[in-house]
Amino acid sequence: MANLGNPKNTIEIIQKYEFNFQKKFGQNFLIDTHVLDKIIRAAGVTKEDFVLEIGPGIGTMTQYLAEAAGKVCAVEIDRNLIPILAETLAGYDNVTVINEDILKVDVERLAREENGGRPIKVVANLPYYITTPIIMGLFESHVPIDNITIMVQKEVADRMQTGPGSKDYGALSLAVQYYADPYIVANVPPNCFMPRPKVGSAVIRLTRHSEPPVQVDDEALMFRLIRASFNQRRKTLVNGLGNAPELSFTKEEIAGAIAAMGLSPTVRGETLTLSQYAELSNRLGGKK
Ligand code: SAM
Repeated sequence: MANLGNPKNTIEIIQKYEFNFQKKFGQNFLIDTHVLDKIIRAAGVTKEDFVLEIGPGIGTMTQYLAEAAGKVCAVEIDRNLIPILAETLAGYDNVTVINEDILKVDVERLAREENGGRPIKVVANLPYYITTPIIMGLFESHVPIDNITIMVQKEVADRMQTGPGSKDYGALSLAVQYYADPYIVANVPPNCFMPRPKVGSAVIRLTRHSEPPVQVDDEALMFRLIRASFNQRRKTLVNGLGNAPELSFTKEEIAGAIAAMGLSPTVRGETLTLSQYAELSNRLGGKK
């Protein structure tokens, strides 16, 4: 099958099947061979790897993955793409296509059955409308993962990579950095896709930490604290957490923990690092 990274071949296949792009599925297909090469290289895919691809579309990146990986499993929600994938991937015997919503797939089980529970790689040009649930779902389910290399909205990539002091810093930054080491591989302009998205994109690689970077007694509590702090970004931490409906600490308990950490009583949540959130969570966790 012709390389779909070439726009001419993509147009040909789309016309042949009279395929209609569905906005609701975030369908923007890659048509740039340099970007495709870069993604595969950044993910470090080898013949030893089992790769999960989310949203193969017409199979453009899947072809590249099939060349580089041992096995590829591609999960695509749009059933109109399945006959197209049967044609574009016909030359590869190491690819399985599953017609399913990725949010309904038991990826842990897939990794166990297909890769003997060894760490898998995830590579995707993600549908932007569900970037966060996909990534958090993968991390929180404790699927064995080596790295996740994904195309996301540029702004989202920035949010994942940044630290305190930036306007982009938030709950997503902390959640991603708790599980992985983020690295922005490339910025990708709209003209590398068909149709062109309205926003800029970036490829980001999230390399899973072998050990969590901080010691937390109660992960769920730490994430509740983080979410509550950023929901009330403009307030001081004491007021934000003291008023949060999902928490039940008194303002005195919160102020006490903040003071014990050597922080100012008027500190805001957006200035705390991941290790400070871990410490705050460990201190408050003893109270309830
Ligand atoms: N990988 C292709 C490429 O790079 O050209 C297509 C990428 S396109 C941005 C996103 C793909 O994800 C589309 O094929 C879309 O149909 C699919 N998709 C959207 N929501 C999905 C879901 N919940 N589960 C699986 N695939 C989904």
